[in-house]
Amino acid sequence: MSKELNFKQELTAAFGQPISENPTQAMVEAAYQHHGLDWRYLTIEVAQDGLEAAVAGARAMGFAGFNCTIPHKVKVIEYLDGLGESASLMGAVNCVVQRDGKLIGENTDGKGFVESLKELTNPEGKSVVMFGAGGAARAIGVEVALAGASSITVVNRSVERGEELTQLLNDRVPAEANFVSWDSTFNIPEGTDVVINATSIGLFPDVDARLNFNIDTLTEAMVVADVIPNPPQTNLVKDARAKGCKVIDGLGMLVNQGVIGIRYWTGVDPDPRVMRAALEEIFG
Ligand code: NDP
Repeated sequence: MSKELNFKQELTAAFGQPISENPTQAMVEAAYQHHGLDWRYLTIEVAQDGLEAAVAGARAMGFAGFNCTIPHKVKVIEYLDGLGESASLMGAVNCVVQRDGKLIGENTDGKGFVESLKELTNPEGKSVVMFGAGGAARAIGVEVALAGASSITVVNRSVERGEELTQLLNDRVPAEANFVSWDSTFNIPEGTDVVINATSIGLFPDVDARLNFNIDTLTEAMVVADVIPNPPQTNLVKDARAKGCKVIDGLGMLVNQGVIGIRYWTGVDPDPRVMRAALEEIFG
């Protein structure tokens, strides 16, 4: 019996009843259960015009913090007391932490990605090709640069978004960024160390979609990372494995941003294996 299976059994036993099907909630509460933390992580839908009241409610009820997602990641900043370094650089918050009665906005998406990357390679001095220029790409680009990557090539379909992210990276972080308009099949340049899919290509239900790049330009010396958590086994993940590359799937980033959030809120360093197992129960 595999170790993974043991984890699943442990999880089922720990819960004793079905866990929520919300992936982040299931993942975070699996960690709470595993570490004996008497905490709850709630999934609450907040309408766009209800954000200010929701933040005031979290404050009034003494929440240790919360995650926020699209469409609230930028707007929420108005209602907070301060920002951590990455959130301030990116202008977006996905994790709020109560510190000494103040609500501080952090961005853990990119940090979670870099933790996954560091399990396979040290980002320092690395040459990175990143597909995408949306929220995930922005978070990853900033953190990879802060972790020491020397160059980042942003490859994006929309020129405006691609150029905006490239300029942000050149202006605010210590990496050299350049933009390539993604209007034809892209060849990964020789000497690239890390290739990242930070687009939504491959996300359920479009699971057969493929990035338009020349697969023969991938070499086994490259680390290939995909942000897509559902399904984790994207075509990119499968193709890169077949080419002998080291691969990070989208669950790695999701788990590690959760690890950082739990650490911020509770002070406890949760076991990422328990959290990943909870996600695998859902995503397979
Ligand atoms: P955005 O909508 O902000 O950005 C989407 C990006 O994908 C843009 O660069 C867009 O290009 C590109 N894109 C989408 N479809 C296509 C296509 N058919 N061809 C070429 N480019 C395309 O989304 P986010 O950045 O917030 O999220 C991106 C993905 O990251 C999502 O799938 C999300 O699930 C995942 N994610 C995963 C996390 C994790 O923890 N694993 C955390 C956060 C996000 P253009 O600018 O041209 O429109």
